[in-house]
Amino acid sequence: MCPGVANRWSGRGLPPDIHADLVGTLFGTVGSFVSGIVGGLTVPALAWFRTGDDAFLLCSAILIAFSAMRIAVFVAHRRGGPEAWRLRATQWEIAYAVGGVGFMTTVGVLGAMTLDGRHDPITALYGAVSVLGCAGSLAGRNAGRPLIVVAQSLGLFVPVTVALILRLDPWYWGLALILILVLTSVLSTTKFLNVVLVSALLAGRESRHRGQQLGIALDSMTHGLCMAASDGSITVLNQRLRDAFDLSDAAPPATLDDLAKSIAASCDMPAETVEPFAATFHRYAGGREPRHWTETLGSRIFLFRSQPMESGGSVVVVEDVTEARRSAQQIEYLAHFDPLTGLVNRYQFHQRLGLALTAAAARHDIALLAIDLDRFKEVNDTQGHPAGDALLRQVAQRLEALSDPSIIVARFGGDEFQILLNPVPPGLSAETFAREVIERISEPYLVEGQAVSIGASIGIAIAPEDGRDGDELLRRADMALYGAKALSRGTALRFTPDMDVVLHRRRQTERELRDALTTGQITVFYQPMVDIRTGRVSACEALVRWHHPERGLVRPDDFIPVAEECGLIADLGLFVLRRACEDALLWPSDVRVSVNVSPRQFLLQRDLVDRILQILAETGLPPQRLEIELTESALLETNTVLSGLVEAGVRISLDDFGTGYSSLSYLRLFTIHKIKIDRSFVRIGDPASLAIIEAVAFIARTLDIELVVEGVETEDQLKIMAERRICLIQGYLFSRPKPLRDILPMLDGTLDISASILRAVA
Ligand code: C2E
Ligand code: CA
Ligand code: CA
Repeated sequence: MCPGVANRWSGRGLPPDIHADLVGTLFGTVGSFVSGIVGGLTVPALAWFRTGDDAFLLCSAILIAFSAMRIAVFVAHRRGGPEAWRLRATQWEIAYAVGGVGFMTTVGVLGAMTLDGRHDPITALYGAVSVLGCAGSLAGRNAGRPLIVVAQSLGLFVPVTVALILRLDPWYWGLALILILVLTSVLSTTKFLNVVLVSALLAGRESRHRGQQLGIALDSMTHGLCMAASDGSITVLNQRLRDAFDLSDAAPPATLDDLAKSIAASCDMPAETVEPFAATFHRYAGGREPRHWTETLGSRIFLFRSQPMESGGSVVVVEDVTEARRSAQQIEYLAHFDPLTGLVNRYQFHQRLGLALTAAAARHDIALLAIDLDRFKEVNDTQGHPAGDALLRQVAQRLEALSDPSIIVARFGGDEFQILLNPVPPGLSAETFAREVIERISEPYLVEGQAVSIGASIGIAIAPEDGRDGDELLRRADMALYGAKALSRGTALRFTPDMDVVLHRRRQTERELRDALTTGQITVFYQPMVDIRTGRVSACEALVRWHHPERGLVRPDDFIPVAEECGLIADLGLFVLRRACEDALLWPSDVRVSVNVSPRQFLLQRDLVDRILQILAETGLPPQRLEIELTESALLETNTVLSGLVEAGVRISLDDFGTGYSSLSYLRLFTIHKIKIDRSFVRIGDPASLAIIEAVAFIARTLDIELVVEGVETEDQLKIMAERRICLIQGYLFSRPKPLRDILPMLDGTLDISASILRAVA
């Protein structure tokens, strides 16, 4: 910290600010400066007056000149102010040194003159005293810059000492010796004072620096901080705290009480709560125990923490925890609620179910309803996800409207909802309640300005009869839901133990189906679509069959859904497609083959289009002879990828028309070559169904789309179609689906179409 000895005299190597401070000390003591000048001027005047020696007058003039210069420098320095001399410390030092050394040397020469033996002892005494007087003030006033002291001292002592030595008298030499001792004492005092001065300045500088660093650290803290002394007066208040509560820099709060009141004012705290708040604040912040407490101030939440200090007083740290609290609440919320509908989520529902089961413990029944929306997917696909979300919210609102303290409604995600009835309301069965729920859900909705209607299927499981454990109940309600959907949409079904059996059967089917694909149990049957104008088969639909070793011929309705569920549909679908293409090559070239493709297949195989084209290339079937049968939902699933097929020449056939949404916009949005009216219209055959068939036939004709009617079983049904000028017919009347070898004869020949039919269709 202290500079080295050599530096101590010259001051070289000192930091510039310390050097400037040291130079500043030269100008610090006006009193000794003035008395020095006055004394220095008086002596030559008196000496001249006493001796008449004009040399003293010259000394006097020189001293006056140096004094004037020194006073001028002094005054200029004072005027300049601290910043001015800090910037040019070296110049000020030189100006000071010139005046000071000149003055002292003149005094020294004056002293030598009084002691040269030409004058009387009184004059000599004046000279000696003035020299010693000046020497006395040197160390004290100029210790900041020791080199100046050295120069001044030499100027002061050397002439006198030389004069004394030249007297060639041992008594004078004694005096010279004493002067040399005084000189060394002046120098060592200077050295000592300088060390003290420099150390003090460096220490001050260090602590200033630390203070600044601490200030920066405090102000850049993310928390507000204040320190208070034991009497409650505030000693430190960081910028963050000022900013947080708009505390003005001009009049910062002086005490903890002031601070509390300023905080209250900045938050527009109601008058009646200010005092209690300030009291709590004072008690906690100024207390002897570490405390933490939160306050909601305006719209924000603050955490205050006070920590007593060993020296008395305390440190208070203030943290804005609004965001942290809100996100914690949000996380808590998301953990338990469904963000879309605000209903309880799966996790929370499971918890409540567990609690309900424990609390009820067979004293009363608890019913679990697993709800699945019918046709929700179609809304989501046709109107977009925002509409789907809006619909889900409306469904949730309706379900919540049913809610009372005994009912908990949850959404498990997608279009799956759950209801817990605990207990089942007296006088009401869970089935009745479920039907009510279906009715409520089935009422029309208005979504984004469009009327939408959906339905719901519900599976019911009741504790304790159907299970005592939450997981088991949920699983069984799900199984019942599965059964309900299989039965018919819009139904509610209670779990029955045979559902377990059904599920078991499905698992078994799944296992066996895997083997069936590799062991040749899967074959393809064909059913013709006949053009009744010519009696010729225009296309055959490929329909998969499973020759089960024990169960015999299994119909696709029994295994396609299982294959779809377990993903086997991908391999199964490609198998049928390849076989159909190969078989069609054996047919007359004007007979097309029509292959069903499940929507699941498109989901599972993103490259399905490429695979279909590859099969066509490998088998050599012209793409124009292949039709792909898609239901409406499959059409939506496949969306744009179909264009690849269409461009290659493959035809698209819209299957089961009339059973789904049957939105006519599909006909405009997608390239469709054929529409197949579902067989239910033919089977029912009521005036409404016929009117629909007629309308679709009209549209198809207008849009130049082929129309096939499926499920024509009787001559009467055929006549009805012929009268509506529908010429493509598929149904048992002409042929059931048959194996390849049984269908081949039909394809080469011409079928007999009765004259009445031909007349009708003409
Ligand atoms: P679909 O596409 O509507 O096929 C027509 C179904 O109607 C066939 O049932 C056919 O046998 C039946 N059918 C035809 N004419 C008549 C009739 O006059 N009266 C009655 N009552 N029924 C008639 P199948 O073969 O049992 O096929 C059922 C469903 O399985 C098909 O319905 C189709 O959706 C699906 N399917 C069949 N083969 C495949 C396939 O290879 N892949 C895929 N993904 N699905 C297939
Ligand atoms: Ca079909
Ligand atoms: Ca069909």
